[in-house]
Amino acid sequence: MSNSTKYVFVTGGVTSSLGKGIISASLAKLLQARGYSVTIQKLDPYINIDPGTLNPYEHGECFVTDDGAETDLDLGHYERFLNVPTSQANNITTGRIYQSVIEKERKGEFLGKTVQVIPHITDEIKNRIQILGTQGIYDIVITEIGGTVGDIESLPYIEAVRQMMWEFDNDCIVVHLTLVPYLAAAGELKTKPTQHSVKQLLELGVQPDILCCRTEHELDLTLRKKIAKFCNVSMNAVIESRDAESIYDVPLLMQEEELDKVVLEKLGLPSKSIPKLDSWKVFLDRLKNPKEEVVIGLVGKYVELKDAYKSISESFIHAGVANEVRVNVKWIHSERLTQNNINDELSGLNGILVAPGFGSRGISGKIEAVKFARENKIPFLGICLGMQCAVIEFARNVLNLTDAHTTEIAEDCPHPVISMMEEQKNISNLGGTMRLGAYKCQLKSNSNSFRAYNTDKISERHRHRFEFNNDYLDAFEKAGMISTGKNPETGLVEVVEIPSHPWFVGAQFHPEYKSTVANPHPLFVAFVNATKEYKNTIK
Ligand code: GLN
Repeated sequence: MSNSTKYVFVTGGVTSSLGKGIISASLAKLLQARGYSVTIQKLDPYINIDPGTLNPYEHGECFVTDDGAETDLDLGHYERFLNVPTSQANNITTGRIYQSVIEKERKGEFLGKTVQVIPHITDEIKNRIQILGTQGIYDIVITEIGGTVGDIESLPYIEAVRQMMWEFDNDCIVVHLTLVPYLAAAGELKTKPTQHSVKQLLELGVQPDILCCRTEHELDLTLRKKIAKFCNVSMNAVIESRDAESIYDVPLLMQEEELDKVVLEKLGLPSKSIPKLDSWKVFLDRLKNPKEEVVIGLVGKYVELKDAYKSISESFIHAGVANEVRVNVKWIHSERLTQNNINDELSGLNGILVAPGFGSRGISGKIEAVKFARENKIPFLGICLGMQCAVIEFARNVLNLTDAHTTEIAEDCPHPVISMMEEQKNISNLGGTMRLGAYKCQLKSNSNSFRAYNTDKISERHRHRFEFNNDYLDAFEKAGMISTGKNPETGLVEVVEIPSHPWFVGAQFHPEYKSTVANPHPLFVAFVNATKEYKNTIK
């Protein structure tokens, strides 16, 4: 069987957290820089239909695509590296695979046959992999298999890979990411875990073509030879993957190891031009040599788990580079913020970001943080729940509606300044039922957001159930909080600002999902610029 699209499978062995997502994104970046059109897909072996209902403690941030898919945070890395949007088809879970097979069974599509893991589940997996390949857009589809080889739950995925390797022959390769640990007592790197993990793949019928070896020290020639010999791969297919200072270093490290070149050789594709990655190198140079530093407080309830705010911290890196500053993020636990300690906790900050979130935990601390930023004229960015907190704070302390709240937390409050949208009221299922994905927004000229974007028509991604209650809009605007961005079709308030404050912006959408290395997000760039200016005025 032949196919014009080529498939690269990325598996992981020995342990989790080796960085399959970053290796996949880096390889894709290098292939893209050589002129290939590439996309990356993540297959997650858990039974949830998507990570939308997962607590961030379980799985970090939930990343949202333009088409409203709630996905794994690795998709954020794919977009940040490639600067190409992903979609629902780029993240598939076991839950979704089984759901569609079972739906087909109920419709009688299997014509009375016994429905089994092989061939029905594996066929569904293979179809989902090929959906991206058959769109005629991509030369290469990189499919990252979540989990670690040997896990019971990832077996059907490895079996699907085995079948595709057989059916597509020269059009598929497997890149296996493993660990080569350093044993301090022995004073050397050990290859045995890699050998074992390759053996495990072989037992499942899959011979990896390339091994990416995560290591803290140099993988010398002897070690490379040994790995190549024991694992049946060519010497040039043993790739060293050293710990890097920044994830953005990895494409260049992989280029030095010629990962992209070996991949193209194995796929039988021409090398085309050697990637120059000039703008990527300029980005890295600026990242490592900032002209000054600013400190921004990130107020949230998951701050002990940085992955919960992955896209926000990456957006700060991009916006910092655009402003030639290093953004030092001070992680501030919203649950611990009170009226009494707010001065101590938030003093010395050049900007405050109040993070998105759900539920009541930590919300009073978030509202206190908004008040502090508003009263002290510190640059402020509120995202989603952060914007809603800004609205509640303004209602309580400026409009004197002391019992104003969001109906998410106080259902029957007398002043529901944030309330549930009509169309959300009869929804009983939690999964995939929020306002999700890209919506248009019309900006008012002469606003900080308009100046940031330099256009009045934008599109941004949403993930929420509650909205600004337009019954209160007049009162807010008269008192100095203006709606500077609205949905042109529904009139829903998407952005609020306080023009008497140097830079105070609350966004109902999530700008952080669209920031990339090539396109740092305009709101983050403007926010970081405002923190820089603020810092220089208080010197
Ligand atoms: N919990 C709020 C809502 O559903 C905000 C959600 C968010 O911050 N993503 O409207």
